[in-house]
Amino acid sequence: MRSLKQEEWVSTHTIRPEWMILARQAIDEIRNGRAVMDALRHYPLQGGGYLGKYVLVAAYHEMVRNNEMSADAHLLESLRMKPMRTLSGVTTVTVLTKPYPCPGKCIFCPTDVRMPKSYLADEPGAMRGLEHDFDPYLQVKSRIQALESLGHPTDKIELLILGGTWSSYRRDYQEWFVKRCFDAMNEDSHHREHEDHREKQKENSVDSVNSVVNLDVVQALNESASHRNVGLVIETRPDEITPDEIRWLRHLGVTKVQMGAQSLDDRILEMNKRGHDVECTRHATALLRAAGFKIVLHWMPNLHGATPESDREDFAKLWQGFCPDELKIYPNQLLANAELYEYWQRGEFQPYTTEELIDLIADVKTTIPRYCRVNRVIRDIPSTNVVEGNRRTSLRQDVHDEMKRRGTRCECIRCREVKGKPVDLALLKLDDLVYDADHAEEHFISYVTPDDKLAGFIRLSLPSKDASQTQLNDLVGAALIREVHVYGQSLPVGEEKTGAAQHAGLGTNLLHQADQIAKENGFKRMAVISAVGTREYYLERGFERGELYLVKNIL
Ligand code: SF4
Repeated sequence: MRSLKQEEWVSTHTIRPEWMILARQAIDEIRNGRAVMDALRHYPLQGGGYLGKYVLVAAYHEMVRNNEMSADAHLLESLRMKPMRTLSGVTTVTVLTKPYPCPGKCIFCPTDVRMPKSYLADEPGAMRGLEHDFDPYLQVKSRIQALESLGHPTDKIELLILGGTWSSYRRDYQEWFVKRCFDAMNEDSHHREHEDHREKQKENSVDSVNSVVNLDVVQALNESASHRNVGLVIETRPDEITPDEIRWLRHLGVTKVQMGAQSLDDRILEMNKRGHDVECTRHATALLRAAGFKIVLHWMPNLHGATPESDREDFAKLWQGFCPDELKIYPNQLLANAELYEYWQRGEFQPYTTEELIDLIADVKTTIPRYCRVNRVIRDIPSTNVVEGNRRTSLRQDVHDEMKRRGTRCECIRCREVKGKPVDLALLKLDDLVYDADHAEEHFISYVTPDDKLAGFIRLSLPSKDASQTQLNDLVGAALIREVHVYGQSLPVGEEKTGAAQHAGLGTNLLHQADQIAKENGFKRMAVISAVGTREYYLERGFERGELYLVKNIL
């Protein structure tokens, strides 16, 4: 069944009046017991196709606003489009920084002057940045409004800041950028001053960049705002990670760092002009861990000089000390606007075939430890940009099909999340997976269902005596909670839902477990890297405000 695309509406913010008339009729039928999909089929569009569910949601809101019906949370839920988007408990909002050069010279990295380094103008997700002139406020605001109109909860937001190398932007720009994101999250959603603001923003854009911004104030406001920031992610290079940078990232409220490892072989790094070596990645990863950040590594098979066999060996090294919490597998893609293109023209580089890639990823996926989440197995680049090699963007599905055929299984976090399924708390099993990372003993403590699905987990890090020196007072002698994640449909704060894991006290239980384990290992203090919008949660559970972390004694 073909329906109008969500993006069509998101980008234009227009719904045709005749669609609303149909949607209202469909809603009336749904209220009288007709299934949503049946009702949609009953009202086909004139030019072919059917109404998108987002039109139903918009019509629902209009009918409630006009007092034609009273609010009905159950009905709204059934009208929602793509509920998967928020199933892991939080809603992700992606925002792009302005075009800016990167200190890196990586031969595989595309350059598009309209975009921050490494992004293409027609890349989904990146397009929205361009559409809003890379204005952080407008990007966040419009995304929140779009998600709300689709009926998604937006009270817990993970902010994903993308674009080249974050650390290479001027710090006054970084601070302004983050502050403007917070401004958008702090604003009451029903306050629609979008267009006025856009004009004002254009007039003031230079002043805003240069002005002294008070980030602390907007962060404090966000602690009780209607859109709380529960995670802040930036992406950078390993050679940018220093104790000073770590302190700065915490000042901004960053909780998760995406970092390009790309390869763990110095020869390959050199051949691809990465500009840093493996030791640098090792050091950066250990420093981030010691400072409690969640670590996402990017890993690229099929780099210049690699073979499927060398990639298999390279992949195995990821779990020797680096041990990322999340992984993005980005097979190298041959693009016309990257230096690698010239290598290919000279016959020095040849991309793998789709079959070779599927074979490789299906192999390595079975070796991923249960503490790691594989976020991606291919970058979301429209296939028209790919000169030669794999053009299939459905690679994740292809890999899973191949694994099914082979009878193998991936046990990564993403493959085991409970998603929206109800959880029977009485049947959950507590599991403590202990592993050694560089300079830390890690505990991945999780609640698991009888069919081995993850209902929630906590990452506890016990730094060893020789742990990397963060020079952060909050962390002296402390065990660290790097992540608490409980799955279930993202519910508005305070709303309970029978069987949903998120509000069933699992988080609190996991925190107790972490305290116990830290105590047994001789730690007397606990620190948590808290996003601004989750501070209240931890403060209610015995933590106090430190300088850059929340801390407590666990004597
Ligand atoms: S560091 Fe990243 S953004 Fe910069 S050139 Fe290399 S791949 Fe591109």
